[in-house]
This record gives sequence, C-alpha cells and structure tokens, in this order.
Amino acid sequence: MDFLDTIIQKKLGKALSREQIEDFAAAAARASVPDYQLSALLMAIRLNGMDARETADLTMAMAHSGEMLDPDVDGVPVDKHSTGGVGDTTTLVLAPLVAACGGKVLKMSGRGLGHTGGTIDKLESIPGFMTSLPKERFVDIVRRIGCAVVGQSAELAPADKRLYALRDVTGTVDSIPLIAASILSKKFASGAHAIVLDVKYGSGAIMDTLEGSVELARTMVDIGTLAGRDVTAVLSNMEEPLGTHIGNALEVKEAIDVLSGRTKGDLLTVSMFLGAHMLTASHVCADLTTAKDRLKAALLSGAGLERLKMMISAQGGDPRVADDTSLLPQAPVITPLLAETSGYVTYMDTQALGYAAQAMGAGRRVKEDVIDPSVGFVLKVRLGDRIEKGSVLAELHARDAESARRAGDGIMKALTITDKPSERQPLIYAVVTRNGIEYKPEL
Ligand code: URA
Ligand code: CA
Repeated sequence: MDFLDTIIQKKLGKALSREQIEDFAAAAARASVPDYQLSALLMAIRLNGMDARETADLTMAMAHSGEMLDPDVDGVPVDKHSTGGVGDTTTLVLAPLVAACGGKVLKMSGRGLGHTGGTIDKLESIPGFMTSLPKERFVDIVRRIGCAVVGQSAELAPADKRLYALRDVTGTVDSIPLIAASILSKKFASGAHAIVLDVKYGSGAIMDTLEGSVELARTMVDIGTLAGRDVTAVLSNMEEPLGTHIGNALEVKEAIDVLSGRTKGDLLTVSMFLGAHMLTASHVCADLTTAKDRLKAALLSGAGLERLKMMISAQGGDPRVADDTSLLPQAPVITPLLAETSGYVTYMDTQALGYAAQAMGAGRRVKEDVIDPSVGFVLKVRLGDRIEKGSVLAELHARDAESARRAGDGIMKALTITDKPSERQPLIYAVVTRNGIEYKPEL
C-alpha cells in the first residue's frame, strides 16, 4: 500500500483501514517512511480525527510494534499513568502504599515533557537510583517488594517513541486518538492488565478544555474494553499544581513528607483515590471502601514509607533519604518570593508555572539539556487563598540569584490576584469506567 494514499485518505477525512493503520505503526517503528510523510499523516489525524475503531486499531498496532511483555508478578500487574501535570508526584506516594497493601505495581514512567515533570527524572535525584534495569530484575523487584519504577525501554512500543518525538515538534500533541494510542500502547506492551489513568483537566492539562479531557478519558476506557484490559480513568484537577513542590528533588521530598504523615493535602487525597482504584482494579480489594481503609492503615503505620525505602534500595538508591531528606540535592540559593499586592488567588496558569521550573533547570527545553535535580520552587499559596502584600508566595530554590529572579517573575505572571474570590472545580471531577461515568465521587 502506498503511504501517500493513506495520507490523502485521512486528509479528506475518511477512516483508515486496519491494514493502513498497521502499516503506519510499522513504518514508524522501522523508519521505513520518511519523517515528513509520518508528520503529514499525524497532522491529518490531528485535524480530522479517528473514530473508535481506528483509534483502537492504532493502539494495538503501536503496542505490537515491539516487544509485548507478560510478566509473572504473583498477582495482577497494575499500572497508573497520568496525562501529565505539574507538582504531580502521585506515583511516588501511591506505588509504595499500594505495594504495602498487597498490590503489584509494575510502573513504567516517563521523563519530563514540556511543562510537565516526569517520575524518572524525579527518582534520579535520589543518589544511586537506577531507572533502567534488566527486565528480569524489574519483575523480581515487583514480586518481592510489590513495586518498581523504571523508564520506558526502547523495545516497548517503538512506534510511539518516533511518533511522540515528531508530535512534539509538529504541533500534533493535543489529539485525542494520538494521546490515547500513545499512552495505552505503552501500558499494553508493558503487560499491565489493570490500568488506572489520571486524566488531568485545567490550566496545566494537555487538553485545553474539560470536555476534551472527558472525551480523552472515555476514549481510553473504551479502548481498554476492546482490548480486554481493565482501564479506569480518573479526571483530576490541574487548575493548580497538585502538590506544593515543583522540581525533581523537591517533589521527592514532598512525597516522603506525605508518606511520613507530615504533609496532607491534595497530593495525598488524589494519591489515595487513585491507589484505591488500583487495588480494586487488580482484585486485591473487593471494594473501594476496603481499599481506602487499607491504604490509610498503610500510611499511618509507616508501611508505605518502609516500602519506598525497600524499593529505593532494590533499585540501587540510598534509602536514607527517606529518613533524612537533606541528603537529597540542595540548591545553593533559597529565597522567598513576596506578594506585591493583597487579594485572593483566583487563577493559576499552571502550564506557565511548569515552564518557570523548567527554565530554572528542572526540565529540558531540548532533549540534550541536563536537568539540575536541586532546583524548583515551593508554592506557599493555593487557589482561593487570601494573601497580603509582602507575604510569601513561594520559596525559590535556584542555581543563582539571576535564575531566582527570572523564576520569580514567571511565577508572579502566572498568578492572578483579585479582590474577590472565585469558584473552584472539584479535585476529582469524575471517574470513567466501562460501566459509565460517575461525577464528583466521594473521596
Ligand atoms: N503521555 C504520553 O505518553 N503520550 C501522550 O501522547 C501524552 C501524554
Ligand atoms: Ca493546555
């Protein structure tokens, strides 16, 4: 089949056959079609969409473009994936808690992308921690400890690797079929049978509208049903960073503070909610109430923190960071950012906050950039807070004074402070399963 015909067909808004879609995924994996033709098809898909059947076909074709794992972990392998957020460290909180409750968390994570942080970059701020392990070792850690977090290996869904890189530079990231196929192809290839997706909505989310996020969630749940895997999608709020810490070592510290019981708040609430769904989806707990009670007990007893230490040791890292977070990399300059006006924090441009951290060195602008694990900032305000002129908005952790000043400007621009408070959307807007959608679930 001529690849040009496929491009033209999608340009005209027609559905592609399964065979055409399989050829597309194979071409992306084997580099048998030039980037400009792949890019043209990506743009045609971005503009004209794909129906449910095409999207499911693309997901399966991308999953099968490389190795398909089926690991024996002594239980149902469960994974969680977020569509990308800021201050979004749920994996580091929930993976050890779910493991402490008997779950088998086989977590394949990504690196930071654009304004969003990545779990792999965060974990690499722990001295010695290895995010790339041979498959046998990874599976063995999950069997013994209940959780392991590694980076995406080159053998899994290679079609996604190439297509993702092209999407990033051709303005075709925000396409529901392309996002759904990208995320789920990797999850299916890694052998996860129960998958909990954290689909963000709000100013820091990959989709610009709430409706777009809901549609993305529904699409992924439907693909799961077609593929015989249990996919749950949770729509969670990214109108502001989920946690208060933004930056790699800072986010590891916050996760440790949460697991130690020192910090509560939205990061803990969303982690517990996602964790409960992981425990029920993988049949460790019969219902959500039981799952939530078990997670709470694991948090209170310190069993979750203990699991994190075991995982860090098993992956070559220094587990003492869990008892003494000052062993994590520390930035040379730590300075407060003060409010210039009084009022209510009514809007946060969360994407801009993510970019402010990236510019400090917490993320990459180009693939070759080296991350500084120590830098970032701690937000001292939440949406809806009343602040007074001169109060501390954030604590900046910077390489030098100039970088702190620039980050301060960026954060200031990202916050809207007005005379009157405004309404907030819920922390969890809805949960989508194969049985339908539940709005504003009990947390
Ligand atoms: N995360 C992914 O892995 N792929 C996407 O397309 C978007 C977010
Ligand atoms: Ca957006």
